[in-house]
Amino acid sequence: MRGKIIDTINGLLLFRKRTALILLLVMSLASAGIIVVNIYSVKILSGARAYVNGESEYSKGQKDASAYLINYINHHNKVDYFAFKNAIAIPKGDHIARVGLTTPPVDYKAVREGLLAGKNHPEDIESMMWLFETFKNVDMFKKAVEIWTEGDEMIYDLDRIGALAHAEIVKGAMSEDEKHAMITAINKNSAALTLKEEAFSETLGNISRQINTYVLVANVLITLIIVFCALTSAAIMIRNLSKSQKKIIEQNERLQLINAGLDKFVFNVTHDLRSPLASIMGLINLMDDETDLEQIKEYTIMIKESLERQDRFINEMLSFIKSKHTGVNRTECSLSSIVDNVIAQNSHHNGGRRVHFYKELELTQIQSDALKLQVILNNLVSNSIKYSDAKKAEQWVKVKSYRHDKEVVIEVEDNGLGIRPKDQDRIFDKFYMSGDNKKSSGIGLYLVKDAVTQLDGKIEVRSELGVCSKFKVIIPFS
Ligand code: ADP
Repeated sequence: MRGKIIDTINGLLLFRKRTALILLLVMSLASAGIIVVNIYSVKILSGARAYVNGESEYSKGQKDASAYLINYINHHNKVDYFAFKNAIAIPKGDHIARVGLTTPPVDYKAVREGLLAGKNHPEDIESMMWLFETFKNVDMFKKAVEIWTEGDEMIYDLDRIGALAHAEIVKGAMSEDEKHAMITAINKNSAALTLKEEAFSETLGNISRQINTYVLVANVLITLIIVFCALTSAAIMIRNLSKSQKKIIEQNERLQLINAGLDKFVFNVTHDLRSPLASIMGLINLMDDETDLEQIKEYTIMIKESLERQDRFINEMLSFIKSKHTGVNRTECSLSSIVDNVIAQNSHHNGGRRVHFYKELELTQIQSDALKLQVILNNLVSNSIKYSDAKKAEQWVKVKSYRHDKEVVIEVEDNGLGIRPKDQDRIFDKFYMSGDNKKSSGIGLYLVKDAVTQLDGKIEVRSELGVCSKFKVIIPFS
């Protein structure tokens, strides 16, 4: 039973330990997860921001280029043409980067140069390239790149109009109609590009917003997991703490009880050692004044009995202490010899001469601890003699043994004074003696119970006051 409880406690502790470890692992993974999610979300968002910046440079370059080209067509000033070339180089740089990133193997040097020409911030270049390559197959980003591609085609239309206008102006052959047609085409191109640029920005804005939502959801979920694990761990720790606190309090109480028990034990043992001495002293005093030899002889017998009682008590204590220290030592032992020994020891003193012993052993050899069996039987038999009923015609003690399933049963029965029902539950307690009993020290049955428990057995008592008592010891067969 005790082993089972310890096993269960150990099992629970192991379970708690394992749960705590799993929770710790989940918390660590969740914390790592939250760090990774946030690092990547910052990376994605800063890449998206760089593209939005890039788009505004692209758009400004395109609008400046359109304006310079219209001025050039109107005033034929070469400065405007160069300004047009410079301005259109910005969206053209972005075009080079985009084509480079979509054409394997990627020429990163050319891509970097293209992005720099597109007036993107040098520190944004790496995150722009990473975002493009990582998300080029993701629907929303693909859509943004498609819009960019369409915009680039319009930039090249504008570039072609510029080249044509320059050729015509250099030749001096541009008619008024051609001039108007070109300006109308440039304005149309610019309006269409503005729409594309807005669509591109909006798509990137959507990507950013969607990522923000994903990151928020992921952060909330991971935080909830961490909070749940932390709370569960704290609950386990608090429960463990209060359990160990309870255990310490229980242990303290048990120790206090043991201390009190020890005090009582020492007091009783001292008392039991002293009482035969006191009666011997009394008898010796009586003998001093006695001249009648018969009376002196009687006193001598009484002194002898007192000494025997003390000797028996000391022996009981010695075997108790010895058996406490040696633990259980199971060997093949002869129950028959042990019973013979016990009867021999008890039949010559303490009223043993008046008592008839009956030995009914069905089982004579068992695997057990001979010393403990000796303690058990000696106490039970000596009690049967001690509490025999002198008023009865025959006083007897019966020792029986038999096997029941996997157990050995040893019975010690007598037709003595019997035990009151209210005492029967308590006679195995240390120093308990029935109220009207003057012969008892109250230690014998406690020693019996202790020895039986050490043998993994149990002891039962059945008694009828004034009629009989039967002690039944049940121990495992081997
Ligand atoms: P002790 O060793 O002094 O006899 P025990 O612990 O053996 O003390 O016994 C406790 C009490 O049980 C005693 O007070 C006694 O009255 C009662 N008792 C034990 N055995 C018997 C018995 N065979 N018949 C009647 N009473 C008994």
